[in-house]
Amino acid sequence: MESLRFVLPQSEIPTHWYNVVADMPNAPMPPLGPDGKPATPEQMSAIFPMAILEQEMSAERWIPIPQPVREIYRLWRPSPLIRAARLEEMLGTPARIYYKNESVSPAGSHKPNTAIAQAYYNKQAGIKRITTETGAGQWGCSMALAGQMFGIDVRVYMVKVSYNQKPYRRSMMQTWGAEVFASPSEMTQTGRAALAADANNQGSLGLAISEAVEEAASRADTNYALGSVLNHVALHQTVIGLEAKKQFEMAGDWPDVIFAPCGGGSSFAGIAFPFVADNAAGGRNGKLVQLVAVEPASCPSLTKGQYAYDFGDSSGFTPLMKMFTLGHDFMPPGIHAGGLRYHGASPLVSQLYHEGLIEAIAVPQLATFEAGVMFAHAEGLIPAPESCHAIRGGIDEALRCKATGEARTILINVTGHGYFDMGSYDRYFAGELEDFEYPEAAIKESLTHLPHVG
Ligand SMILES: *Cc1c(COP(=O)(O)O)cnc(C)c1O
Repeated sequence: MESLRFVLPQSEIPTHWYNVVADMPNAPMPPLGPDGKPATPEQMSAIFPMAILEQEMSAERWIPIPQPVREIYRLWRPSPLIRAARLEEMLGTPARIYYKNESVSPAGSHKPNTAIAQAYYNKQAGIKRITTETGAGQWGCSMALAGQMFGIDVRVYMVKVSYNQKPYRRSMMQTWGAEVFASPSEMTQTGRAALAADANNQGSLGLAISEAVEEAASRADTNYALGSVLNHVALHQTVIGLEAKKQFEMAGDWPDVIFAPCGGGSSFAGIAFPFVADNAAGGRNGKLVQLVAVEPASCPSLTKGQYAYDFGDSSGFTPLMKMFTLGHDFMPPGIHAGGLRYHGASPLVSQLYHEGLIEAIAVPQLATFEAGVMFAHAEGLIPAPESCHAIRGGIDEALRCKATGEARTILINVTGHGYFDMGSYDRYFAGELEDFEYPEAAIKESLTHLPHVG
């Protein structure tokens, strides 16, 4: 029998993260402070530890992973690379499909790869509390887990609509010892102002970020942690792609094309950036790997956004970042159930896209759930709705190969499992979800609020 699982020994947990900045044709566009000048580490040190800010600005190709972080990674890393042979058979494709299974972490997604690192650096800096936000609950769970492992108190502002719809994600965070508040909350000025304007405000990720940042900025013992978008988060996630490369060597194969879901862009960065290094060096045996970010058609930052400086949150607390954005006050339509709702995309992912080194596609939500169900039928694992975007991309490519007879090798980043997202699957089965065409008018309107940069 042929092997389907490619599992590395724990000694192969990467010793260094890979920093794509070292291989980018142009230096990254700097974040800008309130004065329109490049933000200084001092300005950001109110909410991040220095070690993280150094990583945020670093151009070093390899950054050592601290031993205590690698020791915790042992709980689930290296994650398996799996040949999706049953999916290939179901599709009748000559393509070979593999997936990297990041659902094996305790929190059920790739997010602990960075949460553990961020908790470690905050602990080293003497920080006692971390505030953060969460939408669907994946990031809040990962930070709660990481805080517990390093003895740091974690306070999570959870978007109110999810707080009410996803009670078990909230209980998971509480089990790992975190405090969880529905956002907008009465705990911050931002939350109180939002509630004063609309007592029924159901919250948004941008608003929850603003609450968490406001609290962290006002207390010396408290820092803030972000689960995506920023350079250091993309950096920490590169363990995914670094392991995958070794696993493809084990398998005697190599990807032609990689699909990853793209919300803030960290899981895409994690699997794709280590392959950017090969592409920059001319490819493996002269062959470049195609790197495809897959986003929802209802929140299409890369494919329909503008490449511009914008805020990372809805209230304009964060430095300005050059990224593909739909406007910081853009809200995806309420019918959208598949996650990946962030208005922008990682500045590094955005710049690589702008320079033509990576690709992006947008997929409608019914097709993503259809792909998730096909994947569950063939492979067993029920993927997170976010991961279903990448699976849709991979299945469509496999079907294209079927039509042309190409035997390409496809790699999909299965970023998490869907066991706490069954409500969204339920809505799909009940026919309650619909495809919402790209909200052109709403995007046009929110893009008129982009900040002016001199
Ligand atoms: C958060 C999340 C994503 C998307 O976030 P990125 O920053 O784009 O990686 C994708 N999949 C799962 C399972 C997630 O929890």
